[in-house]
Amino acid sequence: MSDENKSIHEFDFKLICEYYSGMERQGPGSPGVTIKALSFIDNLTDESKIADIGCGTGGQTMVLAKHTSGHITGIDLFADFIDIFNVNSQKSNLQDRVDGVVGSMDNLSFQNEELDLIWSEGAIYNIGFERGINEWHKFLKTGGFIAVSEASWFTEKRPIEIDRFWKDAYPEIDIISGKVKQMQKAGYIPIATFVLPENCWTEHFYTPQASAQEKFLKKYAGNKTAEELVRNQRHEAELYNKYKEFYGYVFYIGKKF
Ligand code: SAH
Repeated sequence: MSDENKSIHEFDFKLICEYYSGMERQGPGSPGVTIKALSFIDNLTDESKIADIGCGTGGQTMVLAKHTSGHITGIDLFADFIDIFNVNSQKSNLQDRVDGVVGSMDNLSFQNEELDLIWSEGAIYNIGFERGINEWHKFLKTGGFIAVSEASWFTEKRPIEIDRFWKDAYPEIDIISGKVKQMQKAGYIPIATFVLPENCWTEHFYTPQASAQEKFLKKYAGNKTAEELVRNQRHEAELYNKYKEFYGYVFYIGKKF
């Protein structure tokens, strides 16, 4: 990459981080959904080791921490998110057992069979669901759990507009039974799947973005990257509103065997 491109990229990267860092969540989800997913997991003790991969600023991690007693490591590629994560952990007085570290989900530094639980909300798509669940399997103890949320189709057929949008954005999007099959093949017993309710997209994700977008556009008036970022987010929100009966986020919970 040329230096010029590199600096453009770094600027985009900073802007994207800034856009999301003021929000509690960087993807669809809610405290209620995190607690529901956790209700299927029954192997945890004070000694448990948990990883939250693609943790962002830690909205869901702090919920997870308040409902478990082991140690949680949050991992995210963006240092700015991890800085906020660690401030959040301190504010909640969880710093002794909740650490944020910068790292990439395709190059994790856990030991084989070290973890009791792998958590990942709205993030595994960065390397792809199938690759993620396969590569992370070795880090779990036998009997350990994985809980990830992932964009999925609800129906076998859907309108062309939304089909095209997702095939371009994330070609691995699939129906729920397809994802469950991949889990089984990767060495997990499928324990549960459930669809995230609509408010995870609206109240907890798109609505907080709307006011942040106004401020962001004012601050970066005339900046093409900022305008495009907001335009894309608004387009996504409109598509969700139009086609929400055909797709959404689904939690997949599996147990390593
Ligand atoms: N789990 C959070 C954030 C979801 S957004 C929530 O539900 O709110 C997806 C997150 O994945 C972002 O924080 C992004 O920085 C992170 N990410 C993207 N690529 C990554 C990678 N290769 N390794 C680790 N994290 C990554």
